[in-house]
Amino acid sequence: MQISIEQLQAYLQDRYKGWATEQGLFMKLAEELGEIAEVLNCRAGMKAADGEDLQTQLAYELADALHYITAIAAINNIDLTDAIFEKDKTASAKYGHDTNLALFISRNAAK
Ligand SMILES: [Mg+2]
Repeated sequence: MQISIEQLQAYLQDRYKGWATEQGLFMKLAEELGEIAEVLNCRAGMKAADGEDLQTQLAYELADALHYITAIAAINNIDLTDAIFEKDKTASAKYGHDTNLALFISRNAAK
């Protein structure tokens, strides 16, 4: 199953709008970032692993972080897709990259 950023935002807006606060969602995001750090430390041998599949754990913690990032955007009516394209375009120009996300997508769509 595929999902777009717009679909995830619509789902999370439905789920959180009207009761969740951006501060509360950010605190959840901070927790999830800590969980990502913990998995990465296990993968690097800096912390004992509990025997679980670290690749799966990393995937789930990244998904959790994306959930809260997208939720913060959703309850603030931020078009995350537009923001991603604009920030990538600006960063690509700033750092002299030979392509950007929009061009990458256009080129791959033509293939
Ligand atoms: Mg988590």
